[in-house]
Amino acid sequence: MRRAFYITAGLLPESADGWLQRKAKRYVVCPFYHAVSNTPLPHITPIYRHRTLDEFRADLDWLQAHYEPVRWTDIDRCEQEQRPAFCLTFDDGLREFYTVVAPILEERHIPCVCFLNSAFVDNRDLMFRYREALTRQGIDWQRYLHDEQPYMTYRQIAELQERGFEFGSHSASHPRYDGLSLSGQLSETLACTDALREHIRLPHRLFSFPFGQSEISKTAVMAHAGTHEAVFGTENLRPGGRNLYNRIAMDGTDMPAKNIIRGEYLREIAHQMLHD
Ligand SMILES: [Zn+2]
Repeated sequence: MRRAFYITAGLLPESADGWLQRKAKRYVVCPFYHAVSNTPLPHITPIYRHRTLDEFRADLDWLQAHYEPVRWTDIDRCEQEQRPAFCLTFDDGLREFYTVVAPILEERHIPCVCFLNSAFVDNRDLMFRYREALTRQGIDWQRYLHDEQPYMTYRQIAELQERGFEFGSHSASHPRYDGLSLSGQLSETLACTDALREHIRLPHRLFSFPFGQSEISKTAVMAHAGTHEAVFGTENLRPGGRNLYNRIAMDGTDMPAKNIIRGEYLREIAHQMLHD
């Protein structure tokens, strides 16, 4: 169904974006990614499609031609001023953020927040879904973790902070929050922030929900929003509320940014017509 919207979006005229923004009453888009790589990543490629460098650059070309890159602190103001803007984030703290993504963003002066899982920084452990993917391929995940170093190190993160990138919490060990009680969720969330604070500066309390917030209770979402300066979800262009910002997943599809962003505008407009 989503794909049908993305395909339809590709048929819109070049001038469609202003109309889509006015119709949806949404001016800021928050795209998010995980990894960018020209070669398959055995821990990721079997689970979801990631961008190649050329695809990522093409996405940024389109985004920058239609939206101004802004920091998360500018989202509300841009929305109020009806100024088309995009706020970029990355999840999971993967190595490619340091090796590939950061240099591309610096060239283009695009700010970005990267959300980290404290248990995985410095390659001390591997997310359960990545373990499963490797096991299915007959790969020893502990050896892979040691040899391939799929995550960033605190040294790299601290260096990126010096270069202007921002970091936030994405839970300690990336569990499914819908399988945890509210107190279990909050302790995962706070354990991450506390552990990160032992190694790096965290001038702002930022959080993105592991696996998004759609499957957890409103109370749990509000509890996170209440304990952070900004929290980031995954419900595309749905308005989040005070300091909850929904993001659009850019991974997991072969569609370029133009189709995804415009397609999400069409979905949001349809949603508003049916429900609001
Ligand atoms: Zn994640």
